[in-house]
Amino acid sequence: MTSINNPSVQILEMDSLSLTNKPRSNTIETSTTSASSSPSLSCTTTASSNPPSLSLSEETTVEAWVAPASLKSLRTHNPIRAIVDPIVANSVKCGKERGDGKDQISLALGDPTAYNNIPPCPTIIQAVSNALLTPSMAAGYVNACGTPEARAAIAKHHDTTDDNVIVANGASGALELALTALLDEDSVLLVPRPGFPLYTVIAESHGASVIHYDLLPQSGWECDLDQVESILSSHQDATKKVVRGILINNPSNPTGAVYSREHLVKIARLAARYRIPIVSDEIYGDMTLDGRVFHPMANVVKGLGGIVPVITASGIGKQYLVPGWRLGWIVFHDSHHGSIREVKKGAQRLAQVILGASHLAQVAIPAVLNPSSKQDELATLAWKEQLHSTIQNQAHLLCNLLNTCHGLEVIQPQGAMYAMVKIYIDKFDEFIVDDVSFMRLLLEEENIVILPGRAFGMSGNSCGAHVFRVVFCAPEDVVRVAVGRIFEFCLRHKKCE
Ligand SMILES: *Cc1c(COP(=O)(O)O)cnc(C)c1O
Repeated sequence: MTSINNPSVQILEMDSLSLTNKPRSNTIETSTTSASSSPSLSCTTTASSNPPSLSLSEETTVEAWVAPASLKSLRTHNPIRAIVDPIVANSVKCGKERGDGKDQISLALGDPTAYNNIPPCPTIIQAVSNALLTPSMAAGYVNACGTPEARAAIAKHHDTTDDNVIVANGASGALELALTALLDEDSVLLVPRPGFPLYTVIAESHGASVIHYDLLPQSGWECDLDQVESILSSHQDATKKVVRGILINNPSNPTGAVYSREHLVKIARLAARYRIPIVSDEIYGDMTLDGRVFHPMANVVKGLGGIVPVITASGIGKQYLVPGWRLGWIVFHDSHHGSIREVKKGAQRLAQVILGASHLAQVAIPAVLNPSSKQDELATLAWKEQLHSTIQNQAHLLCNLLNTCHGLEVIQPQGAMYAMVKIYIDKFDEFIVDDVSFMRLLLEEENIVILPGRAFGMSGNSCGAHVFRVVFCAPEDVVRVAVGRIFEFCLRHKKCE
């Protein structure tokens, strides 16, 4: 029994709300059974069972008490924080404090603005500053699903109609909206491993569970579709929880993979066969390396005659270097049967709760996706080309240098802002036993931060080696210093043979 359904709790709560002029009592006499099944109530401290009546002349003394956190909040935790925070928290030291002159360099932050080396797209700065200085333009409430201009620009970009678009607070808000509209307690979402942890965080906060399917490093991190098929076929059984969606991420964080059309076709056919909606996280869009082509899943499915619904999540944070503006969206691309029409209505109802994303920030969306003048269009294009070539140069340098380090091998990235690096543990001394000890020691000795594969759900040796993720947003001089230190570190820990 959950606390919400516990009648004795409800009565007590009603009592405490009644007009008796009593301060709300947090004394909840939970029965032993409900206390044990409800972590949110078991830690309640008991105030006096007879709260003093409140009179303005008296001084109120209140015993210490703690309000219980909701079940949903207790179910919400981000695994990256649990792994990384304890290691990084007590080591934010500059080179002077450390006595070795090694200032901290992070190759861990998935924030393309973290190094201040590339300014955001100037056309969107201009558009938003104009709107800010003209309050009639962007000060008021707007439709909870977004401004008409933003929705039209997104619809055009994704080759659909405005009513299929909901603007959200970042791609994170978009994913939350999509997954909240799809998942219930006791339902299942298929998510990639390694993968961006947010999918699991959202699903589990709703009491849904995730089943991981593996990405295969030896085949460019493609999805293990045999495994997906065996998960889906075993869940046909009525005694099992129902699978409500399969999440794919392309271009991928943390692997840097960009999927071929052929691979996306296979995913779509499989999902269609089992009638599972696809949620496609495409936040990195066309941020690809070496001319690799990005295929939006919805386009691929359109080419197959709309055999399966696709909910696309995207945004401008990563692609236009304004992640702090919190702008993302979901787009519903329904199947030819209209399979997700109810889910779309559900998401539209959910969007009413917080009345959408900032009106001011939304001005940026048409500015980049649907520029009003030829001049703006060219300026945006030129900026984008510059961004992509800078990132590509940084990626090449980082990967080439890392490949010269003893015991490391980069799995060649194709896009996004990340690469995974294999650590051949048997080439290192006894201090490096896995990805997490590699991370901890590298931080201690060289003041360099990377993220271990474990932060993305990889367990130990799952691909024949341990792995860590690096970000290639750091400028070239920073990359040289960082990899110089990693090089020394790997030599120092080389196993004696
Ligand atoms: C950064 C990121 C997001 C979140 O994007 P925001 O717009 O900042 O919320 C979603 N998915 C992936 C794969 C990401 O890397």
